[in-house]
Amino acid sequence: MTTSLSATEAATRILIVEDEPAIADTLAFALAGEGYSTEWRSLGREALAAVNDGGFDLVILDVGLPDIGGFDVCRELRRHSDVPVIFLTARSDEIDRIVGLELGADDYVAKPFSPREVVSRVRAILRRLRPRGGAHDAHGAANPFTVDADGARIAYCGTWLSLTRYEYGLLATLADHPGRIFSRAQLMARVWQDAGESLERTVDAHVKTLRAKLREVAGDDPIETHRGLGYSLRRDLRRDASAPR
Ligand code: CA
Repeated sequence: MTTSLSATEAATRILIVEDEPAIADTLAFALAGEGYSTEWRSLGREALAAVNDGGFDLVILDVGLPDIGGFDVCRELRRHSDVPVIFLTARSDEIDRIVGLELGADDYVAKPFSPREVVSRVRAILRRLRPRGGAHDAHGAANPFTVDADGARIAYCGTWLSLTRYEYGLLATLADHPGRIFSRAQLMARVWQDAGESLERTVDAHVKTLRAKLREVAGDDPIETHRGLGYSLRRDLRRDASAPR
């Protein structure tokens, strides 16, 4: 039974895993306001069972749960499921672990958070996973990058860049997840086949040359350095609709 929601929105189900009822309630309320349907579990064990039963489009997962910690829940869940995961964390050292380890999380939000922030992260992740809605892609800033995976080339603001193999890999990874911070180790693992032999400084060196090439095209460098964490592409990428030439 749906009201005025489109079929897609009505079908979007989000699992909230949080042992503090007040936080879970706040989130459920905010997400319901955006048309998402939610279910709440307070234990990691229950969350794993719920994900196994299937049907969730996204999981919001508290790191500090009373039975199984959120990190272990995520690791376990990743053995069978690709469902997007957003961590809720209360401690900054946990953020380092989320960003630094390959836990398979899609994003995180630090407590205390505003429900609006969580809703916008949820929306961003779900949008990324779904085909674009054409004219109704109202929230998405247009991406100034065109990634041609078959040709291993990338255009920025309408101009094809001349990139080395590693520069291409770095930029394709960042451009695929604007706003997401990748640690140097994560970038190494994704871009370098023989990561064991290379140093993380190598990432810095290639990011530096990549930045120079981006600035040459648009006088603008959308890569952000996060001290002690890694790199990301700015979320608020500016609009440039011109086709690559
Ligand atoms: Ca907790």
